Amino acid sequence: MNYRHAYHAGNHTEVFKHAILVMLLEHLTQKMQPFMVLDTHAGVGLYDLESEQAQRTGEKVDGVEKIYDVGIPSCQRYFDIIKSINPGKLRHYPGSPEISRHMLRPTDRLIACELHPDDYLELENRYRFDRRVTVQNRSGYDAINALLPPVERRGLVFVDPPFEQKDEVQSMISALKKGLRKWSTGIFCFWYPIKDSKIGDALADAVVSAQYPKALRIEFLPFKKDGMNLAGSGIIICNTPWKMDEKAKLLCRDIAPKLGDGRGTWSIKWLTEEREPQ
Ligand code: SAM
Repeated sequence: MNYRHAYHAGNHTEVFKHAILVMLLEHLTQKMQPFMVLDTHAGVGLYDLESEQAQRTGEKVDGVEKIYDVGIPSCQRYFDIIKSINPGKLRHYPGSPEISRHMLRPTDRLIACELHPDDYLELENRYRFDRRVTVQNRSGYDAINALLPPVERRGLVFVDPPFEQKDEVQSMISALKKGLRKWSTGIFCFWYPIKDSKIGDALADAVVSAQYPKALRIEFLPFKKDGMNLAGSGIIICNTPWKMDEKAKLLCRDIAPKLGDGRGTWSIKWLTEEREPQ
């Protein structure tokens, strides 16, 4: 395992991905009933943007640094979380478990899986004091099989792998299949990088051919696709909350002139039918 997320914290894909995560969590907090979040690939939870790794890539420059002074009106809560961990100038960036933790109420739960032994220890140490959070040193794909459905019967599975393995897409497809079989009403959110269209198309084809419920594909690209460099990223959601497409559109409109070189493009497509809530 060579991938270390500290090199990429706060880049443009993170802003897009984490704003969507916040929107999904906002949906879950609209009802009183508790929910559970399973973060299958958690990372270390909090990143120092002045660390040697972060400075080596400087990826925050096209990402969080571009929004830090101007905000994101379409997803104020995400912006508030970033501000709350940075009392003055931008120094730290929250990972997905930290963002979820900020949104949990006393009865909600987060299970965060991290396979890298050092990152697991750091994450475990960070959340030792918070009884709502459980950190597990296991594969997030195994956790989908072992831990679903949650007792709460409401919640989100957030899948954000490093794409180090050649068969990552296959692992995601089979995790989604198992996950939905065990928990047909859970919200499943899968992130993927975009250099070309291959990964997104393979995931979308699997979702369409299995006709998974209420599946939305959102892609945001601050840069032009050239097949080689990271142009942007995509997210596929199953059991997508009502009106998520409209919220995602507002987000993309908001961040397109801010991230990267300010000429971002996006697409938002229903892969399978959206239904009104009963
Ligand atoms: N979700 C995090 C966030 O938004 O802040 C970033 C996650 S990073 C893209 C992927 C993480 O997954 C890395 O920390 C890596 O060590 C870990 N990892 C790789 N394979 C894994 C697996 N099968 N199960 C759990 N974690 C894994």
